[in-house]
Amino acid sequence: MTQEIENTPAIAPFNTLGLHPSVLAAITAVGYEEPSPIQTQSIPLIMAGHDMIGQAQTGTGKTAAFALPILSRIDANRREAQVLVLAPTRELALQVATAFESFAAQMPTVNVVAIYGGAPMGPQLKAIRNGAQVIVATPGRLVDHLSRNGGLLSTIKFLVLDEADEMLKLGFMDDLEVIFNAMPDERQTVLFSATLPSSIRGIAEKHLRNPQQVKIASKTQTVARIDQAHLMVHADQKINAVLRLLEVEDFDAMIGFVRTKQATLDIAAALEAKGYKVAALNGDIAQNQRERVIDSLKDGRLNIVIATDVAARGLDVPRITHVFNIDMPYDPESYVHRIGRTGRAGREGRALLLVTPRERRMLQVVERVTGQKIAEIQLPDAKVILQARIRRLTQDLAPRVKDKENKNVELLAHLTTELNCSAEDLALALLAKTTEGQAFTLDGVEREQPVLAPRGRDNRDRDDRGGRGRDDRGGRGEGGRGDRGGEGGRERRAPLALSEGKVRCRTALGVRDGVAARNLLGAILNEGGLSRDAIGRIQIRESFSLVELPEEGLESLLSKLKDTRVAGKALKLRRYRED
Ligand code: AMP
Repeated sequence: MTQEIENTPAIAPFNTLGLHPSVLAAITAVGYEEPSPIQTQSIPLIMAGHDMIGQAQTGTGKTAAFALPILSRIDANRREAQVLVLAPTRELALQVATAFESFAAQMPTVNVVAIYGGAPMGPQLKAIRNGAQVIVATPGRLVDHLSRNGGLLSTIKFLVLDEADEMLKLGFMDDLEVIFNAMPDERQTVLFSATLPSSIRGIAEKHLRNPQQVKIASKTQTVARIDQAHLMVHADQKINAVLRLLEVEDFDAMIGFVRTKQATLDIAAALEAKGYKVAALNGDIAQNQRERVIDSLKDGRLNIVIATDVAARGLDVPRITHVFNIDMPYDPESYVHRIGRTGRAGREGRALLLVTPRERRMLQVVERVTGQKIAEIQLPDAKVILQARIRRLTQDLAPRVKDKENKNVELLAHLTTELNCSAEDLALALLAKTTEGQAFTLDGVEREQPVLAPRGRDNRDRDDRGGRGRDDRGGRGEGGRGDRGGEGGRERRAPLALSEGKVRCRTALGVRDGVAARNLLGAILNEGGLSRDAIGRIQIRESFSLVELPEEGLESLLSKLKDTRVAGKALKLRRYRED
Protein backbone atom coordinates (compact mmCIF):
# COMPACT_ATOMS: atom_id res chain seq x y z
CA MET A 1 0.00 0.00 0.00
CA THR A 2 2.79 2.39 0.80
CA GLN A 3 5.01 3.77 -1.88
CA GLU A 4 8.69 3.85 -0.96
CA ILE A 5 10.86 6.67 -2.16
CA GLU A 6 14.43 5.64 -1.53
CA ASN A 7 16.67 7.73 -3.66
CA THR A 8 17.88 11.08 -2.53
CA PRO A 9 16.64 13.45 -5.22
CA ALA A 10 18.68 16.36 -6.48
CA ILE A 11 18.50 19.15 -3.92
CA ALA A 12 16.03 21.86 -4.89
CA PRO A 13 16.32 25.21 -3.13
CA PHE A 14 13.82 25.97 -0.37
CA ASN A 15 12.01 28.49 -2.55
CA THR A 16 10.99 25.84 -5.10
CA LEU A 17 9.12 23.68 -2.60
CA GLY A 18 5.93 25.74 -2.45
CA LEU A 19 6.45 26.91 1.14
CA HIS A 20 4.61 29.98 2.43
CA PRO A 21 6.58 33.24 1.94
CA SER A 22 6.54 33.92 5.71
CA VAL A 23 8.02 30.48 6.33
CA LEU A 24 10.68 31.10 3.67
CA ALA A 25 11.56 34.40 5.33
CA ALA A 26 11.92 32.63 8.69
CA ILE A 27 14.19 29.97 7.15
CA THR A 28 16.43 32.73 5.83
CA ALA A 29 16.46 34.33 9.27
CA VAL A 30 17.56 31.11 10.99
CA GLY A 31 20.27 30.73 8.35
CA TYR A 32 19.39 27.45 6.63
CA GLU A 33 20.93 27.48 3.18
CA GLU A 34 19.34 24.47 1.55
CA PRO A 35 16.99 21.66 2.53
CA SER A 36 18.44 18.49 4.00
CA PRO A 37 17.70 15.24 2.12
CA ILE A 38 14.76 14.32 4.37
CA GLN A 39 13.35 17.83 3.89
CA THR A 40 13.75 17.67 0.11
CA GLN A 41 11.67 14.52 0.05
CA SER A 42 9.09 15.20 2.74
CA ILE A 43 8.15 18.83 2.11
CA PRO A 44 6.55 18.32 -1.34
CA LEU A 45 4.57 15.30 -0.08
CA ILE A 46 3.24 17.12 2.98
CA MET A 47 2.51 20.23 0.92
CA ALA A 48 0.47 18.01 -1.46
CA GLY A 49 -1.61 16.74 1.45
CA HIS A 50 -0.29 13.16 1.66
CA ASP A 51 -0.05 11.13 4.82
CA MET A 52 3.58 10.17 5.24
CA ILE A 53 5.98 7.87 7.05
CA GLY A 54 9.48 9.28 7.36
CA GLN A 55 12.31 7.08 8.48
CA ALA A 56 14.82 9.49 9.96
CA GLN A 57 16.63 10.07 13.21
CA THR A 58 17.50 13.20 15.09
CA GLY A 59 20.06 15.25 13.25
CA THR A 60 18.60 14.73 9.78
CA GLY A 61 16.54 17.92 9.98
CA LYS A 62 13.30 16.00 10.50
CA THR A 63 11.65 18.70 12.64
CA ALA A 64 11.81 21.26 9.85
CA ALA A 65 10.78 18.52 7.38
CA PHE A 66 7.31 18.49 8.93
CA ALA A 67 7.12 21.92 10.60
CA LEU A 68 7.83 23.99 7.47
CA PRO A 69 5.13 22.50 5.20
CA ILE A 70 2.57 22.29 8.00
CA LEU A 71 3.06 25.94 8.97
CA SER A 72 2.73 26.77 5.27
CA ARG A 73 -0.64 25.04 5.14
CA ILE A 74 -2.40 26.13 8.31
CA ASP A 75 -4.97 28.89 8.34
CA ALA A 76 -3.07 31.48 10.36
CA ASN A 77 -6.17 33.60 10.82
CA ARG A 78 -8.19 30.90 12.55
CA ARG A 79 -7.51 30.97 16.24
CA GLU A 80 -8.02 27.31 17.02
CA ALA A 81 -5.84 24.22 17.46
CA GLN A 82 -4.91 22.94 13.99
CA VAL A 83 -1.66 21.06 14.46
CA LEU A 84 -0.81 18.43 17.04
CA VAL A 85 2.74 17.13 17.32
CA LEU A 86 3.27 14.23 19.73
CA ALA A 87 6.79 13.74 21.10
CA PRO A 88 8.03 11.09 23.53
CA THR A 89 9.73 13.39 26.04
CA ARG A 90 9.34 16.81 27.52
CA GLU A 91 12.77 17.72 26.24
CA LEU A 92 11.88 16.89 22.65
CA ALA A 93 8.46 18.55 22.97
CA LEU A 94 10.16 21.77 24.07
CA GLN A 95 12.65 21.58 21.26
CA VAL A 96 9.99 21.00 18.64
CA ALA A 97 7.89 23.84 20.07
CA THR A 98 10.87 26.18 19.96
CA ALA A 99 11.59 25.13 16.37
CA PHE A 100 7.94 25.81 15.38
CA GLU A 101 8.17 29.20 17.03
CA SER A 102 11.28 30.15 15.11
CA PHE A 103 9.76 28.97 11.81
CA ALA A 104 6.57 30.93 12.62
CA ALA A 105 8.51 34.04 13.64
CA GLN A 106 7.11 35.95 10.66
CA MET A 107 3.52 34.77 11.28
CA PRO A 108 2.39 37.06 14.07
CA THR A 109 -1.03 35.41 14.50
CA VAL A 110 0.40 31.92 15.00
CA ASN A 111 0.92 30.67 18.54
CA VAL A 112 2.57 27.50 19.76
CA VAL A 113 2.01 25.76 23.08
CA ALA A 114 4.04 22.96 24.65
CA ILE A 115 2.08 20.51 26.79
CA TYR A 116 4.13 18.26 29.06
CA GLY A 117 4.13 16.76 32.51
CA GLY A 118 5.70 18.38 35.54
CA ALA A 119 4.33 21.86 34.81
CA PRO A 120 0.94 23.23 35.93
CA MET A 121 -1.96 22.28 33.66
CA GLY A 122 -3.84 25.58 34.01
CA PRO A 123 -1.63 27.77 31.81
CA GLN A 124 -1.32 24.98 29.24
CA LEU A 125 -5.08 24.69 28.94
CA LYS A 126 -5.46 28.44 28.81
CA ALA A 127 -3.01 28.66 25.90
CA ILE A 128 -5.03 26.08 23.96
CA ARG A 129 -8.28 27.87 24.77
CA ASN A 130 -6.72 31.17 23.65
CA GLY A 131 -6.39 29.67 20.20
CA ALA A 132 -2.79 28.43 19.90
CA GLN A 133 -2.76 26.82 16.45
CA VAL A 134 0.13 24.45 17.18
CA ILE A 135 0.16 22.06 20.15
CA VAL A 136 3.32 20.10 20.84
CA ALA A 137 2.62 17.52 23.52
CA THR A 138 3.85 14.46 25.29
CA PRO A 139 1.13 11.78 25.14
CA GLY A 140 0.70 11.27 28.89
CA ARG A 141 0.00 14.87 29.75
CA LEU A 142 -2.24 15.31 26.69
CA VAL A 143 -4.39 12.38 27.79
CA ASP A 144 -4.74 14.06 31.20
CA HIS A 145 -6.05 17.16 29.48
CA LEU A 146 -8.38 15.08 27.32
CA SER A 147 -9.86 13.36 30.34
CA ARG A 148 -11.03 16.78 31.53
CA ASN A 149 -11.75 18.40 28.17
CA GLY A 150 -12.69 15.74 25.63
CA GLY A 151 -13.23 18.20 22.77
CA LEU A 152 -9.79 19.73 22.94
CA LEU A 153 -8.57 18.20 19.68
CA SER A 154 -11.76 18.43 17.62
CA THR A 155 -10.32 21.02 15.22
CA ILE A 156 -6.98 19.32 14.52
CA LYS A 157 -6.11 19.05 10.82
CA PHE A 158 -2.48 17.93 11.02
CA LEU A 159 -1.08 15.25 13.31
CA VAL A 160 2.63 14.47 13.62
CA LEU A 161 3.99 11.52 15.56
CA ASP A 162 7.62 12.41 16.19
CA GLU A 163 10.05 9.66 17.23
CA ALA A 164 7.17 7.20 17.10
CA ASP A 165 9.36 4.22 17.99
CA GLU A 166 10.52 5.99 21.15
CA MET A 167 6.93 6.71 22.13
CA LEU A 168 6.07 3.05 21.90
CA LYS A 169 9.21 2.05 23.81
CA LEU A 170 8.11 4.38 26.59
CA GLY A 171 4.75 2.62 26.78
CA PHE A 172 2.55 5.27 25.19
CA MET A 173 0.62 2.86 22.93
CA ASP A 174 -2.64 3.11 24.90
CA ASP A 175 -2.35 6.86 25.23
CA LEU A 176 -1.86 7.16 21.47
CA GLU A 177 -5.09 5.25 20.87
CA VAL A 178 -6.97 7.61 23.20
CA ILE A 179 -5.53 10.58 21.33
CA PHE A 180 -6.34 9.14 17.88
CA ASN A 181 -9.93 8.63 19.00
CA ALA A 182 -10.21 12.24 20.17
CA MET A 183 -9.31 13.60 16.75
CA PRO A 184 -11.27 14.09 13.53
CA ASP A 185 -10.71 11.36 10.89
CA GLU A 186 -10.37 14.07 8.28
CA ARG A 187 -6.79 15.06 8.93
CA GLN A 188 -3.31 14.66 7.51
CA THR A 189 -1.02 12.41 9.53
CA VAL A 190 2.75 12.30 9.37
CA LEU A 191 4.81 9.77 11.29
CA PHE A 192 8.54 10.06 11.86
CA SER A 193 10.51 7.22 13.34
CA ALA A 194 14.14 6.12 13.30
CA THR A 195 13.09 2.48 13.00
CA LEU A 196 9.94 0.89 11.62
CA PRO A 197 9.17 -2.19 13.75
CA SER A 198 5.89 -4.02 13.17
CA SER A 199 4.19 -2.08 15.98
CA ILE A 200 4.82 1.17 14.11
CA ARG A 201 3.68 -0.35 10.83
CA GLY A 202 0.53 -1.47 12.67
CA ILE A 203 -0.21 2.09 13.75
CA ALA A 204 0.40 3.32 10.22
CA GLU A 205 -1.95 0.67 8.77
CA LYS A 206 -4.70 1.65 11.16
CA HIS A 207 -4.39 5.42 11.38
CA LEU A 208 -2.68 6.69 8.23
CA ARG A 209 -4.31 6.89 4.81
CA ASN A 210 -2.29 5.60 1.90
CA PRO A 211 0.94 6.92 3.37
CA GLN A 212 3.94 7.70 1.23
CA GLN A 213 7.15 6.40 2.73
CA VAL A 214 10.30 8.46 2.72
CA LYS A 215 13.66 7.08 3.63
CA ILE A 216 17.17 8.29 3.14
CA ALA A 217 19.02 5.56 1.30
CA SER A 218 22.11 4.44 3.20
CA LYS A 219 24.55 2.79 0.89
CA THR A 220 27.59 1.31 2.59
CA GLN A 221 30.47 3.71 2.21
CA THR A 222 34.14 3.20 2.51
CA VAL A 223 36.40 5.62 4.25
CA ALA A 224 40.02 4.71 3.96
CA ARG A 225 43.10 6.28 5.50
CA ILE A 226 41.14 8.64 7.68
CA ASP A 227 41.66 8.59 11.40
CA GLN A 228 38.28 9.39 12.95
CA ALA A 229 37.33 10.50 16.44
CA HIS A 230 34.27 11.91 18.15
CA LEU A 231 33.69 13.98 21.27
CA MET A 232 30.42 14.18 23.22
CA VAL A 233 29.54 17.77 23.93
CA HIS A 234 26.50 19.95 24.63
CA ALA A 235 25.52 22.36 21.89
CA ASP A 236 26.39 25.47 23.87
CA GLN A 237 29.87 24.12 24.65
CA LYS A 238 30.86 23.62 21.03
CA ILE A 239 32.95 26.74 20.50
CA ASN A 240 34.93 26.05 23.64
CA ALA A 241 35.42 22.42 22.60
CA VAL A 242 36.65 23.49 19.16
CA LEU A 243 39.16 25.90 20.72
CA ARG A 244 40.53 23.23 23.00
CA LEU A 245 40.81 20.54 20.36
CA LEU A 246 42.62 22.88 18.00
CA GLU A 247 45.24 23.43 20.69
CA VAL A 248 46.20 19.77 20.70
CA GLU A 249 45.51 18.65 17.13
CA ASP A 250 48.52 18.87 14.91
CA PHE A 251 47.01 20.25 11.73
CA ASP A 252 48.25 21.86 8.60
CA ALA A 253 44.95 23.03 7.14
CA MET A 254 41.44 22.34 8.37
CA ILE A 255 37.91 22.63 7.15
CA GLY A 256 35.21 22.87 9.83
CA PHE A 257 31.61 22.06 8.87
CA VAL A 258 28.59 23.71 10.45
CA ARG A 259 24.95 23.89 9.48
CA THR A 260 24.12 27.56 9.32
CA LYS A 261 25.60 30.76 7.95
CA GLN A 262 25.51 32.27 11.40
CA ALA A 263 27.52 29.39 12.82
CA THR A 264 30.22 29.87 10.15
CA LEU A 265 30.54 33.49 11.29
CA ASP A 266 30.40 32.75 15.03
CA ILE A 267 33.01 30.01 14.98
CA ALA A 268 35.32 31.86 12.59
CA ALA A 269 35.12 34.95 14.81
CA ALA A 270 35.92 32.94 17.95
CA LEU A 271 38.94 31.34 16.26
CA GLU A 272 40.15 34.61 14.80
CA ALA A 273 40.05 36.16 18.25
CA LYS A 274 42.49 33.44 19.34
CA GLY A 275 44.86 34.28 16.52
CA TYR A 276 44.01 31.56 14.01
CA LYS A 277 44.16 32.38 10.32
CA VAL A 278 40.55 31.53 9.56
CA ALA A 279 37.71 32.51 7.25
CA ALA A 280 33.99 31.73 7.05
CA LEU A 281 32.51 30.31 3.86
CA ASN A 282 28.75 30.34 3.41
CA GLY A 283 26.13 30.76 0.73
CA ASP A 284 26.04 34.54 1.19
CA ILE A 285 29.66 34.91 0.16
CA ALA A 286 30.13 36.04 -3.44
CA GLN A 287 31.84 33.69 -5.86
CA ASN A 288 34.98 35.82 -6.32
CA GLN A 289 35.41 36.18 -2.55
CA ARG A 290 34.88 32.43 -2.18
CA GLU A 291 37.64 31.78 -4.69
CA ARG A 292 39.95 34.12 -2.80
CA VAL A 293 39.29 32.17 0.41
CA ILE A 294 40.03 28.84 -1.27
CA ASP A 295 43.23 30.21 -2.83
CA SER A 296 44.34 31.50 0.58
CA LEU A 297 43.70 28.10 2.10
CA LYS A 298 45.73 26.50 -0.68
CA ASP A 299 48.76 28.75 -0.25
CA GLY A 300 48.75 28.92 3.54
CA ARG A 301 47.56 32.49 4.08
CA LEU A 302 44.60 30.77 5.77
CA ASN A 303 44.74 27.55 7.76
CA ILE A 304 41.11 27.09 8.70
CA VAL A 305 37.87 27.52 6.80
CA ILE A 306 34.53 27.19 8.57
CA ALA A 307 31.92 26.30 5.98
CA THR A 308 28.40 25.09 5.39
CA ASP A 309 28.03 22.02 3.19
CA VAL A 310 26.64 24.15 0.38
CA ALA A 311 29.52 26.58 0.40
CA ALA A 312 32.15 23.82 0.62
CA ARG A 313 30.83 22.03 -2.45
CA GLY A 314 33.66 21.35 -4.86
CA LEU A 315 36.30 22.58 -2.44
CA ASP A 316 39.36 20.44 -2.99
CA VAL A 317 42.53 21.52 -1.24
CA PRO A 318 45.24 18.84 -0.87
CA ARG A 319 46.73 20.69 2.13
CA ILE A 320 43.73 19.81 4.27
CA THR A 321 44.84 17.45 7.03
CA HIS A 322 41.75 17.80 9.23
CA VAL A 323 38.01 17.83 8.73
CA PHE A 324 36.13 19.00 11.77
CA ASN A 325 32.42 18.14 11.87
CA ILE A 326 31.44 20.82 14.34
CA ASP A 327 27.78 20.20 13.51
CA MET A 328 26.63 16.69 12.65
CA PRO A 329 26.00 16.05 8.95
CA TYR A 330 22.43 15.12 7.96
CA ASP A 331 23.24 11.60 6.89
CA PRO A 332 26.15 9.15 6.58
CA GLU A 333 26.68 9.98 2.90
CA SER A 334 27.25 13.57 3.75
CA TYR A 335 29.65 12.55 6.54
CA VAL A 336 31.68 10.43 4.13
CA HIS A 337 31.64 13.21 1.59
CA ARG A 338 32.81 15.77 4.13
CA ILE A 339 35.66 13.73 5.53
CA GLY A 340 36.78 12.78 2.03
CA ARG A 341 38.11 16.35 1.91
CA THR A 342 41.11 15.14 3.88
CA GLY A 343 43.41 12.21 3.20
CA ARG A 344 43.89 13.49 -0.37
CA ALA A 345 46.84 12.56 -2.53
CA GLY A 346 47.59 9.47 -0.49
CA ARG A 347 48.11 11.39 2.75
CA GLU A 348 46.79 10.49 6.15
CA GLY A 349 43.79 12.50 7.20
CA ARG A 350 42.01 13.09 10.46
CA ALA A 351 38.29 13.64 10.98
CA LEU A 352 36.80 15.00 14.20
CA LEU A 353 33.11 14.96 15.04
CA LEU A 354 31.22 16.73 17.81
CA VAL A 355 28.16 14.79 18.95
CA THR A 356 25.44 16.25 21.19
CA PRO A 357 23.62 13.81 23.46
CA ARG A 358 20.56 13.69 21.21
CA GLU A 359 22.71 12.82 18.20
CA ARG A 360 24.08 9.59 19.65
CA ARG A 361 21.89 7.56 17.37
CA MET A 362 23.10 9.40 14.30
CA LEU A 363 26.65 8.55 15.36
CA GLN A 364 25.69 4.87 15.47
CA VAL A 365 24.13 5.10 12.02
CA VAL A 366 27.29 6.65 10.60
CA GLU A 367 29.37 3.91 12.22
CA ARG A 368 27.12 1.22 10.80
CA VAL A 369 27.07 2.60 7.29
CA THR A 370 30.81 3.18 7.16
CA GLY A 371 31.52 -0.11 8.91
CA GLN A 372 33.97 1.63 11.23
CA LYS A 373 33.98 2.62 14.86
CA ILE A 374 34.61 6.29 15.47
CA ALA A 375 36.72 6.41 18.63
CA GLU A 376 35.54 8.58 21.49
CA ILE A 377 38.02 11.16 22.72
CA GLN A 378 37.86 13.40 25.79
CA LEU A 379 38.20 17.11 25.94
CA PRO A 380 41.87 17.96 26.55
CA ASP A 381 42.39 19.38 30.04
CA ALA A 382 44.59 22.31 31.02
CA LYS A 383 47.65 20.08 31.49
CA VAL A 384 47.39 18.56 28.02
CA ILE A 385 46.87 21.98 26.49
CA LEU A 386 49.91 23.36 28.31
CA GLN A 387 52.06 20.45 27.12
CA ALA A 388 50.88 21.02 23.54
CA ARG A 389 51.75 24.72 23.74
CA ILE A 390 55.24 23.97 25.04
CA ARG A 391 55.73 21.34 22.33
CA ARG A 392 54.71 23.79 19.61
CA LEU A 393 56.99 26.50 20.94
CA THR A 394 59.88 24.04 21.15
CA GLN A 395 59.28 22.88 17.57
CA ASP A 396 59.14 26.46 16.45
CA LEU A 397 62.40 27.43 18.17
CA ALA A 398 64.41 24.27 17.48
CA PRO A 399 65.60 25.15 13.96
CA ARG A 400 66.33 28.73 15.01
CA VAL A 401 68.51 27.64 17.94
CA LYS A 402 70.56 25.47 15.60
CA ASP A 403 70.86 28.17 12.98
CA LYS A 404 74.52 29.19 12.96
CA GLU A 405 73.85 31.87 10.42
CA ASN A 406 71.56 33.80 12.71
CA LYS A 407 71.76 37.36 11.57
CA ASN A 408 70.83 38.78 14.92
CA VAL A 409 74.20 38.49 16.71
CA GLU A 410 74.81 42.20 16.38
CA LEU A 411 71.30 43.07 17.42
CA LEU A 412 71.71 40.89 20.52
CA ALA A 413 74.87 42.75 21.52
CA HIS A 414 73.18 46.08 20.87
CA LEU A 415 70.09 45.21 22.92
CA THR A 416 71.94 43.76 25.91
CA THR A 417 74.09 46.87 26.05
CA GLU A 418 71.25 49.28 25.45
CA LEU A 419 69.00 47.59 28.01
CA ASN A 420 71.86 46.81 30.33
CA CYS A 421 70.70 43.22 30.79
CA SER A 422 71.99 39.66 30.38
CA ALA A 423 71.19 37.49 27.35
CA GLU A 424 68.98 35.43 29.68
CA ASP A 425 66.97 38.50 30.73
CA LEU A 426 66.55 39.37 27.11
CA ALA A 427 65.46 35.82 26.24
CA LEU A 428 62.82 36.01 28.98
CA ALA A 429 61.54 39.34 27.69
CA LEU A 430 61.34 37.98 24.14
CA LEU A 431 59.50 34.89 25.35
CA ALA A 432 56.99 37.06 27.16
CA LYS A 433 56.47 38.93 23.91
CA THR A 434 56.09 35.87 21.66
CA THR A 435 53.72 34.11 24.05
CA GLU A 436 51.55 37.16 24.64
CA GLY A 437 47.89 36.18 24.87
CA GLN A 438 48.68 32.53 25.59
CA ALA A 439 49.29 31.32 29.11
CA PHE A 440 52.25 29.02 29.68
CA THR A 441 51.47 28.01 33.25
CA LEU A 442 48.91 25.46 34.36
CA ASP A 443 47.09 28.09 36.33
CA GLY A 444 47.03 30.48 33.44
CA VAL A 445 45.68 27.90 31.00
CA GLU A 446 42.96 26.92 33.46
CA ARG A 447 41.87 30.51 33.79
CA GLU A 448 41.98 31.04 30.05
CA GLN A 449 40.07 27.85 29.18
CA PRO A 450 37.46 27.31 31.84
CA VAL A 451 36.81 23.66 32.56
CA LEU A 452 33.58 22.44 31.00
CA ALA A 453 31.62 20.75 33.73
CA PRO A 454 30.24 17.46 32.45
CA ARG A 455 26.48 17.60 32.38
CA GLY A 456 24.01 14.81 32.81
CA ARG A 457 22.61 12.97 29.82
CA ASP A 458 19.76 14.80 28.26
CA ASN A 459 16.43 14.20 29.76
CA ARG A 460 14.67 11.63 27.68
CA ASP A 461 12.54 9.99 30.31
CA ARG A 462 8.82 9.74 29.85
CA ASP A 463 6.56 12.50 30.93
CA ASP A 464 4.34 11.70 33.83
CA ARG A 465 0.91 12.54 35.05
CA GLY A 466 0.65 15.35 37.52
CA GLY A 467 4.37 15.84 37.98
CA ARG A 468 5.55 12.68 39.76
CA GLY A 469 9.10 13.53 40.76
CA ARG A 470 9.67 15.84 37.85
CA ASP A 471 10.70 19.44 37.67
CA ASP A 472 10.49 21.63 34.63
CA ARG A 473 14.13 22.41 34.20
CA GLY A 474 15.00 19.89 31.55
CA GLY A 475 14.63 21.82 28.34
CA ARG A 476 16.17 24.80 26.69
CA GLY A 477 13.61 27.48 25.93
CA GLU A 478 10.16 27.33 27.38
CA GLY A 479 8.16 26.22 24.39
CA GLY A 480 5.30 28.50 23.63
CA ARG A 481 3.35 30.19 26.28
CA GLY A 482 3.08 27.31 28.67
CA ASP A 483 5.38 29.01 31.13
CA ARG A 484 3.64 32.23 31.72
CA GLY A 485 3.47 31.61 35.38
CA GLY A 486 0.12 33.31 35.66
CA GLU A 487 -1.02 31.28 38.65
CA GLY A 488 -1.11 33.03 42.02
CA GLY A 489 2.31 33.76 43.47
CA ARG A 490 4.30 32.17 40.65
CA GLU A 491 5.83 35.51 39.68
CA ARG A 492 8.17 35.19 42.63
CA ARG A 493 9.04 31.54 42.42
CA ALA A 494 12.69 30.56 42.78
CA PRO A 495 14.75 31.06 39.64
CA LEU A 496 15.64 27.94 37.64
CA ALA A 497 19.20 26.63 37.59
CA LEU A 498 21.30 28.39 34.96
CA SER A 499 22.72 26.57 31.95
CA GLU A 500 26.48 26.25 31.53
CA GLY A 501 28.22 29.50 30.50
CA LYS A 502 24.99 31.47 30.57
CA VAL A 503 23.76 34.44 32.57
CA ARG A 504 20.20 35.61 32.99
CA CYS A 505 19.09 38.94 31.55
CA ARG A 506 15.88 40.73 32.35
CA THR A 507 13.53 42.92 30.38
CA ALA A 508 10.55 44.74 31.81
CA LEU A 509 8.41 43.39 28.96
CA GLY A 510 6.14 40.47 29.79
CA VAL A 511 2.76 38.91 29.09
CA ARG A 512 0.95 42.17 29.81
CA ASP A 513 2.90 43.78 26.96
CA GLY A 514 1.82 41.04 24.56
CA VAL A 515 5.29 39.50 24.44
CA ALA A 516 5.75 35.76 23.79
CA ALA A 517 8.96 33.72 23.94
CA ARG A 518 9.22 33.64 20.16
CA ASN A 519 9.12 37.47 19.93
CA LEU A 520 12.06 37.75 22.30
CA LEU A 521 13.89 34.92 20.57
CA GLY A 522 13.34 36.44 17.11
CA ALA A 523 14.49 39.90 18.22
CA ILE A 524 17.62 38.63 19.95
CA LEU A 525 18.53 36.28 17.09
CA ASN A 526 18.02 38.90 14.40
CA GLU A 527 19.52 41.91 16.05
CA GLY A 528 22.08 40.27 18.30
CA GLY A 529 23.46 38.09 15.50
CA LEU A 530 23.52 35.06 17.81
CA SER A 531 23.14 31.43 16.83
CA ARG A 532 20.07 29.60 18.10
CA ASP A 533 22.14 27.49 20.45
CA ALA A 534 23.52 30.57 22.17
CA ILE A 535 20.15 31.48 23.63
CA GLY A 536 19.05 29.43 26.60
CA ARG A 537 15.81 29.29 28.49
CA ILE A 538 13.29 32.09 28.07
CA GLN A 539 10.82 32.71 30.89
CA ILE A 540 7.89 35.02 30.22
CA ARG A 541 6.21 36.46 33.30
CA GLU A 542 3.30 38.84 33.65
CA SER A 543 5.39 41.98 34.08
CA PHE A 544 8.89 40.96 33.01
CA SER A 545 10.84 38.22 31.23
CA LEU A 546 14.14 36.46 31.75
CA VAL A 547 16.41 35.23 28.97
CA GLU A 548 19.56 33.15 29.32
CA LEU A 549 22.38 34.57 27.22
CA PRO A 550 26.06 33.65 26.88
CA GLU A 551 28.25 35.27 29.50
CA GLU A 552 31.06 35.60 26.99
CA GLY A 553 30.58 38.76 24.96
CA LEU A 554 27.52 39.82 26.98
CA GLU A 555 28.43 43.49 27.11
CA SER A 556 28.79 43.82 23.36
CA LEU A 557 25.58 41.82 22.83
CA LEU A 558 23.62 44.10 25.16
CA SER A 559 24.99 47.11 23.42
CA LYS A 560 23.93 45.67 20.02
CA LEU A 561 20.44 45.22 21.44
CA LYS A 562 20.20 48.60 23.10
CA ASP A 563 17.75 50.06 20.56
CA THR A 564 15.82 46.85 19.93
CA ARG A 565 12.04 47.01 20.24
CA VAL A 566 9.70 44.08 20.81
CA ALA A 567 5.93 44.34 20.46
CA GLY A 568 6.45 48.06 19.84
CA LYS A 569 8.27 48.65 23.11
CA ALA A 570 11.92 49.11 24.04
CA LEU A 571 13.46 45.78 25.04
CA LYS A 572 16.06 47.27 27.44
CA LEU A 573 17.70 44.00 28.35
CA ARG A 574 19.89 44.14 31.47
CA ARG A 575 21.94 41.56 33.30
CA TYR A 576 19.73 40.10 36.03
CA ARG A 577 21.06 39.95 39.57
CA GLU A 578 20.28 36.46 40.82
CA ASP A 579 20.12 37.67 44.40
P1 AMP B 1 16.51 17.70 13.79
O1 AMP B 1 16.93 16.47 13.04
O2 AMP B 1 15.17 18.19 13.38
O3 AMP B 1 16.63 17.51 15.29
O4 AMP B 1 17.51 18.89 13.38
C1 AMP B 1 18.85 18.87 13.72
C2 AMP B 1 19.50 20.24 13.60
O5 AMP B 1 19.65 20.61 12.23
C3 AMP B 1 18.75 21.40 14.24
O6 AMP B 1 19.68 22.14 14.97
C4 AMP B 1 18.22 22.20 13.09
O7 AMP B 1 18.12 23.58 13.40
C5 AMP B 1 19.25 21.95 12.02
N1 AMP B 1 18.70 22.01 10.65
C6 AMP B 1 17.58 21.40 10.20
N2 AMP B 1 17.40 21.65 8.88
C7 AMP B 1 18.44 22.42 8.48
C8 AMP B 1 18.82 23.01 7.22
N3 AMP B 1 18.10 22.82 6.12
N4 AMP B 1 19.95 23.74 7.20
C9 AMP B 1 20.69 23.92 8.33
N5 AMP B 1 20.39 23.40 9.55
C10 AMP B 1 19.28 22.65 9.63
